Order: sequence, then C-alpha cells, then structure tokens
Amino acid sequence: MGVNAPSSAGTDAPLTPGVDQDALLKQATSEMMEKGFVVANLDKLVNWARTGSLWPMTFGLACCAVEMIHSYMSRYDLDRFGVVPRASPRQADVIIVAGTLTNKMAPAFRKVYDQMAEPRYVISMGSCANGGGYYHYSYSVVRGCDRVVPVDVYVPGCPPTAEALIYGILQLQKKIRRTGTLWR
Ligand code: SF4
Repeated sequence: MGVNAPSSAGTDAPLTPGVDQDALLKQATSEMMEKGFVVANLDKLVNWARTGSLWPMTFGLACCAVEMIHSYMSRYDLDRFGVVPRASPRQADVIIVAGTLTNKMAPAFRKVYDQMAEPRYVISMGSCANGGGYYHYSYSVVRGCDRVVPVDVYVPGCPPTAEALIYGILQLQKKIRRTGTLWR
C-alpha cells in the first residue's frame, strides 16, 4: 500500500487490532484527504479481501462436524473472521473436511471439490480426515482425504477442539497472505 503500516511496514505480518489498525486508518484517511486517492497493490488488496471472507462449504462427515458446528456458534463465532458456511460449492472457496471419509463418499467429495471455484482451499479436520484415524485399517475408509484432494491445512485431534479449528483457519489465512497470488 502507499500507506505504510506503522509497526508492520515491510512485512506481511497482519496488523495488531487496535492501536496499529487505528494508526493505519488515520494515516490512510489523511492521505486520502490530501491527495484524493490511496495507492495499493492489487494482489495485497485481493488477498486481504480473500482472507477476510473465507466461505467454507459445509462438509461434516462424522463426529468432528459437531466441533465444526460448535466453532460457528455464538461462543466462538466464526462470522467475526468473515467465515460464513455455504451450502453450495459454487459459493464456497474453502472446504473443511470434518470427519471420516469413506470409500463410498470419496467420489461425491471429489465432485463437490471440483464444483468449487478457484482459488479453493482445503482444511482437513481431525485424525480421520488426516489419515483414517481409528479406522485406518478398515476396509471402507479412505486413509486421509489428501488421497482425493490437495490439502492446505491439517488440524490434528480426535476430535480437534473448536479452538483448534479456528487456529487452523488462521493458519490458512496466513498461508494465503504469504503466497500472495491471485491465481493458484
Ligand atoms: S477424528 Fe475422531 S472425532 Fe473426528 S470423525 Fe474421526 S473418530 Fe470422530
């Protein structure tokens, strides 16, 4: 941006809410008043918008889904990160695989993933999605959803807590900011 962040200038580190963000806003406003425009890098602007509006496809497969639902509810309130669940892959840019992926479900999962628009991201939530979990040696379970789609973030646990999933989402935001590309 034409306006430099006070304590994070030259880095991709997000601004600390509060003082840092207020100072940046003040600086941007005064520059806008003075020159009538603000200069910004398009990729940074797009990625800023993207990380602040990750819309996950609802894809609860087993018990992990309950923790995922928990993280959407009022106690953790994922809406405040701009994370709003969608019931259509056409409106989603991230899919949270929450639960046990069976061989029977795998083709449907891949189809849903293929219907999502690019750039799309995948969070694998819990031991089952990460590698089959308890059912690793079962005849009917896929030993990790990364055998079907590319995974960006793995959240460990059986089940992972709502906090762990939120941490995973923050890691995904960090990854998007770090890679900083418009297309994947
Ligand atoms: S990881 Fe544990 S909690 Fe999650 S779906 Fe598998 S068995 Fe259930």
